[in-house]
Formats: sequence, C-alpha cells, structure tokens
Amino acid sequence: MSLAERRQKLIRAVRMYPVITLFVLALAYLAGAFSESEDPLIPKDLVFLALNIYIFLVPGLFITAFILIGFASERERRGVSNNQRRFNYEDPFDLPLEEMRGYKLAVITEREPTLRGLTGDSYKADDSAICAQFPEHTPPVASCECGFYAYRTLADAKFESSINPGTFLLEVDLYGIGFRYEDGYRAESQVVKKIIIPKRCMRCRIFSPTVFVVSCRMGYQNYSWMQWQVRCDICSLSFKDRDKLSIPEMFGKLKIPTSNTLGSSDGFR
Ligand SMILES: [Zn+2]
Ligand SMILES: [Zn+2]
Repeated sequence: MSLAERRQKLIRAVRMYPVITLFVLALAYLAGAFSESEDPLIPKDLVFLALNIYIFLVPGLFITAFILIGFASERERRGVSNNQRRFNYEDPFDLPLEEMRGYKLAVITEREPTLRGLTGDSYKADDSAICAQFPEHTPPVASCECGFYAYRTLADAKFESSINPGTFLLEVDLYGIGFRYEDGYRAESQVVKKIIIPKRCMRCRIFSPTVFVVSCRMGYQNYSWMQWQVRCDICSLSFKDRDKLSIPEMFGKLKIPTSNTLGSSDGFR
C-alpha cells in the first residue's frame, strides 16, 4: 500500500472514531457501567478502566500513526529528489506517453476571480508554470518541485477536497514535458477544462448551489483575503449584487469554456 493510500485510510479511520465511540459507550451501558445495580454483568471498575484506556489509547495511536506517516513521506520526498539528481540525460525519466489528463484542487480568490493552488500560487486557465525558487528553471525540473501538478484519478482529488473545505475540483489537461509521480503528473503547462461545481451549497451543504459569492476570510496575523464560494439561493441572500457572480459569469471571468460545465455534477457531493 502506498503512503498516500495509508494516509487516506488513516483519515477515514479518524472519521469513524465518533461512531466507534458511540458503539463503545453503548456496550459499556449494556454491560451495566451506568446502572445502579449491585450486580452488573461486568464489574463497573473494569468497564471504567477499559473506557479510560480507550479514551487515551486510541487518540494516542492515531497521533502516532500520523507522525509516522509524516516522517515516511518526508523521507520519501527527500529520497525522490536524491534519486532524480543521480539520473543523467542519456537515461532520463519514465516520461508519460499518454495524454496527461488529471484533477486538482484550487481556491478562487481576489475580487477579480483568480485560481490559486493550495500552495498559494495563482494561475490562469491556460498557463505555463514558472519556478518561484529558481527563475532560470523551465518547469518541470526533475530535481526541483516546480511545474503544474494533477492527480490522475478523480477519486484521489475528491478525497483531498474532502479534507480541504472551500476548495474546488478542477479537471485539467497537462502539456509539454511531464513527469509521472506516485499520484499523478507534474508538467510544464496546464489548461483548466472545467470546474466541477459541487452538488451542494458550500455553506449549508443541503441545497444546490446557484451562485458564486465573494467574502472576506480572516487568517493569521491580520492577513485576510477574498474568497469565492458557490452557495444556494438562501445562503447568498445577504450578499450584494456586486459580491455575486452567476456560474457562467464566473467561468467567463476565469476564461474557462462554459460548455464544459454541462454534466458537471458527476457524483461529486
Ligand atoms: Zn524549479
Ligand atoms: Zn446553502
């Protein structure tokens, strides 16, 4: 199992914790831990001891697992770049020959809508990567981290979006020189094919979204930024017209063809 898969499994297990806790409490109740009966099925002290161990041990195990996975991915990342430095040009890389179509996460920021990756770099719908660290690089450079990244499968991107609320899923095509990495591709240039509009309003998570709204987000140290979300009619009532954009208007502003929005609700919640 790859590291990314292990991390996904772990996060899913953490999400199960409340459910398992309820189950454990129900078991404790059935065992007589909370009854006044003199003769419970299992001695009360034993049940409370087991509950205490559960309360401390399980979160402890989760934390340890997160730390171990963190260390392992850090080691892997360093290992990868060391390997890549060892390669020479005669025997270069396993370059993908297939079309590099993928999925990625972005937020839409600024009053004039701008796509921004989770690393904070902004880009246009049709753009070539630039290397922020080494201006002389033409991304992607094997030993560097520059280039446009995308997951190969929608499932991986969806999972990441579930732990990054406020992000949109994009379908992208990558062009130029590209590298394969564990979860996807890293390439020279990128065209955003469509924004996969979530099925539910990003605020109430109940109704279908109808409109983009922009609001100010506060961050650390008085740092604030404008961020766009899609919301339903009710959750967008308090917004002034100048803080709203229809979905086609947003696609227009971002220069993404609107024909691509049709059939966008492919199972994404
Ligand atoms: Zn670079
Ligand atoms: Zn809503």
